[in-house]
Parts: sequence; C-alpha cells; structure tokens
Amino acid sequence: MENRNENTPLTLQKAVEYFSDSDRALEYMITMRWPDGVTCYHCGGKSHVFISTRKIWRCKSCRKQFSLKRGTIMECSPLSFDKWVITFWALANCKNGISSYELARAIGVCQKTAWFLLHRTRHIMATQDFDVKLDGVTEADEHYHGGLEANKHESRKNKAGRGGVGKVIVVGVMKRGGEVRVKIVPDTSKATIHEFIRENVQEGSEIYTDEHASYRGLEEKYIHDSVNHSAHEYVRNQFIHCNGMENFWSLMARIFSGTYISCDAPHLHRYLAEQVMRFDFRKSTDADRFEHVVSRVANQRLTFKALLAENKAGV
Ligand SMILES: [Zn+2]
Repeated sequence: MENRNENTPLTLQKAVEYFSDSDRALEYMITMRWPDGVTCYHCGGKSHVFISTRKIWRCKSCRKQFSLKRGTIMECSPLSFDKWVITFWALANCKNGISSYELARAIGVCQKTAWFLLHRTRHIMATQDFDVKLDGVTEADEHYHGGLEANKHESRKNKAGRGGVGKVIVVGVMKRGGEVRVKIVPDTSKATIHEFIRENVQEGSEIYTDEHASYRGLEEKYIHDSVNHSAHEYVRNQFIHCNGMENFWSLMARIFSGTYISCDAPHLHRYLAEQVMRFDFRKSTDADRFEHVVSRVANQRLTFKALLAENKAGV
C-alpha cells in the first residue's frame, strides 16, 4: 500500500505500546477516519471546536456534537481504542484467525464482548469494491462446508434433502496470483454458478475449472477449459488447473477445523470475508493489512441485535 500512515506501528508489540496512550490512539484514528480533516458527522462541516475533556467536537455550522466513533463500526462501544485496534490487528494478521476466547483473554474483556468485537471487525473486512471484475487468468471452484449432520445438535439438524445435507455450498473464483471472491449459494446448478461467474469475471477472460457439469457452456463467453478430477487429472499443459482455489479452500478448512470449530452457519459469510481479506493481502505486511482494516471503519454498522437476528434466522 502506498499511502501508509507514517505512524502505523510495524509489529503487534509496537502497536500495543503505541495505542496504550489514548491521546495518541485518538490522533491516529482521526487521520485514518478523516484523511482530509475532521468532518462533522451531521452536516459535513469542516469548521468545529474540539472539547478535549470529552474528546468530542462541536460543529460551528450546525452546532451539533459528534465523536470519532459516531458513524463508524465502533459507534456505541464503550471500549477504548486500544482494545479496538488490537482486535483489528489480530484479525487482520493472525493467519488462522482468532477465537473470541483467545481475544477475550488477550484484551481483558468477556467472551461475549470479544465475539461482538470480532464480528464487527469482520463486517468492515467484508465490504470490498466489487465494481471491477476479475480478468486475465482465473479459476473457479465450489466447496462444501460444514460438519456431518450426525454431529449436530438435534434442533440444528437439517432433515430435508439428500447428498450434501447439512453442508453449506460456497462457490469461489480467483484471479490467478491475485484476488479471490466467494459466495454462499443455495445450489450448484448451472444457472447459479454461471450467474456468480458473470458477476465476477470479465467476459473474454480465461477461466479454469474442474469437470463439474455446471461449468459447461462457459466457453460461450470465456476461454474455458477444465481438468478431470475424477480421472485423477489435476493439471494439464501446466496452466489448466484450479489449484489456487483449492489452496484457498484448504486454508479455509484448516481455520474451521482449528480456530472456528464452533462457528455458526448464520455468520459463515463473515468468517469467509475475514479469510478472503487476509488472502487478498497475502503479499502485504502486517502493518498494511492493519491499515486496510482501520481505514474502513467509517460508515459501517453492525448491531448486536442484528447479529442475534441472524442467529434466529439461521439453521
Ligand atoms: Zn455540523
């Protein structure tokens, strides 16, 4: 990343030290949230008075008050910035993620608070710019996520259907050596898969897949070829393969069998977003990944109520 804030700490240890000073933490967050100067939350005004005792601003245009947290993912949070930034750092940089129990111990909050903090952080990681489609050489693949029905609590068992029962289907596409995009889909029909690819890959690009029937017909809009996994063919002519996507799925499986064993299906999309963000920034430094997360705090909201509603709506 080119626009690195010169004050961004380079290691976790330095970050802990740096953000333990609340004034310094506030100063840093101000430059990350408002790179063009402090702006009124209510009217967009640039002229204001800072009330240092309360760490809030009073706008000279609309006369209303606002804080740094107002209108960000941290809104209504009583936690100090140092706990937030350590959460950002941990989730941006721990390769296998971090559980709410680990985070709770690390920053001295209860597990429920840590769980909420982590989901809000995943929420800002999820918001990416999908206007630009992937191009060049791409790979697509699908993945079945989830444990066996037999291991689930009776109330959570999915009794309908056959085959992939209890599994969540995730379809993914990546630019080889670059960005990955994934989506939870209801089925692996041709219509579903083709729609996902159309939304994410530029027409005319190369796309490599396995032999799954739903990928047939892609050659109408793309340069498409596939490898025949059932015939133990994994790479042909050195470049026809979907090993990049398969690598992504195996990293994902490792995280879910290690750190996020008890991850609930209703929130899966957010755990996926977390992994996608770290994967997309796999060639970056810890400080870059941290900055990327911090720079996304504004105009984001995820309430505890909304999270609980997802729980109820889930399987
Ligand atoms: Zn104002």
